[in-house]
Amino acid sequence: MSAAREEDIVILGGGLAGASAACILADSGRSPLLLERDAEPRHKVCGEFLSIEAQAYLADLGIDLDGLGASRIARVRLAHGRNTTEAHLPFLARGLSRRSLDEALLLQAGSRGARILRGVSAREISTEGKSIRLDAGTKGAIQAQTLFLATGKHDVRGVKRASAGTMNDLIGFKGHYRLAGRQKIELEGYVEVMLFAGGYAGLQLVEDGLANLCLVVSRRYFDDAGKSWDRLIARIVDECAHLGERLGAAQPLFERPLSIFQIPYGFLHDPYAGDPPGLFRLGDQAAVIPSFTGDGMSIALHSGRLAATTFLAQGQASVIFQRQLRKDVQRSIRFSSALNTAVRYRVGRQAIFHLCRGWPAAMRHVTSLTRVQESAVTGALATR
Ligand SMILES: Cc1cc2nc3c(=O)[nH]c(=O)nc-3n(C[C@H](O)[C@H](O)[C@H](O)COP(=O)(O)OP(=O)(O)OC[C@H]3O[C@@H](n4cnc5c(N)ncnc54)[C@H](O)[C@@H]3O)c2cc1C
Repeated sequence: MSAAREEDIVILGGGLAGASAACILADSGRSPLLLERDAEPRHKVCGEFLSIEAQAYLADLGIDLDGLGASRIARVRLAHGRNTTEAHLPFLARGLSRRSLDEALLLQAGSRGARILRGVSAREISTEGKSIRLDAGTKGAIQAQTLFLATGKHDVRGVKRASAGTMNDLIGFKGHYRLAGRQKIELEGYVEVMLFAGGYAGLQLVEDGLANLCLVVSRRYFDDAGKSWDRLIARIVDECAHLGERLGAAQPLFERPLSIFQIPYGFLHDPYAGDPPGLFRLGDQAAVIPSFTGDGMSIALHSGRLAATTFLAQGQASVIFQRQLRKDVQRSIRFSSALNTAVRYRVGRQAIFHLCRGWPAAMRHVTSLTRVQESAVTGALATR
């Protein structure tokens, strides 16, 4: 085995979870090494809906959402077949592309003293006893005292998530559009959620008046559309005329949509899985909440902060961190997973739509039940 470079703290992945942990560790005088696979900022599959908790974490880390041009979203509109219903959200949400947001947070981490290496991908991680060793490709081998694993949806050989049994036949798609004048005006201030047989779609504005369309569909529905994006959209529009209206005369801004396969919705890491005490699993590597109503970005930011503050206070005590994280997010993951299952059935979609139409406040309750618990966020923000 070749000699490995030794590092005190390595953070693998520079998304929201990894970059937020890097900011907090750097603020405490540590100098973590953060490895990020992408050499340049890029778009990611995401609805780009920022809940109030995510906003609180971002503000605390010095991210100026107004300065970045984030849209404002006060209402939700639910569409099913030819019908729509709407309600106020329980908070003012924001919309911002992941390309802008993740870059801003990574720059914050660098300016606070984290050492950022971009364009570096870890191929494999081996753990033995307390030892953690990374194969960092062109950067060679690294022996890390402590590793914050924050590679999001991407598993790394040697430390793959045990996600068997989760709902993983779903595909996520995302594309940005410039909507026609009236469609853009009608979307302003709203997040629109559309239900259809094969899944659901979210549409909202982000910065510069652009619209983000994010879809989650079953693999079978996509296969039945001949695995073609255009036929997939045509099929959804057949069922949900609202989407057809919104996309009529819209200009797609991506050559082809981004996609992600086999999302392990409902996954929650087992704190007692036998990881070394210096291995902290963050963000989607620790918990994956269904995106229908979910709050994945605030879970990522919450986990980044909780892992960093637990490490600073108690050292290599990853089991304590993973246990607390599980406690903070499992209710919202369970509830979101149940909803996600319900919308897969016609009767479930109809029931949800009729409930929301008859009792619009239900949409507010759903939004509240699918977020990280407020007390956990307040507690985490108070710890530094
Ligand atoms: C379809 C869909 C819609 C969603 N919509 C929303 C929404 O509207 N609101 C919301 O709050 N959440 C949403 N989410 C969830 C949210 O996107 C994720 O929970 C969040 O991005 C997780 O953050 P992370 O930091 O864990 O991972 P990521 O943001 O995925 O970051 C991981 C980083 O690690 C890097 N990386 C990966 N592998 C390696 C490697 N081997 N070496 C080095 N670097 C590596 C990647 O390049 C990436 O930058 C959605 C998710 C999906 C799938």
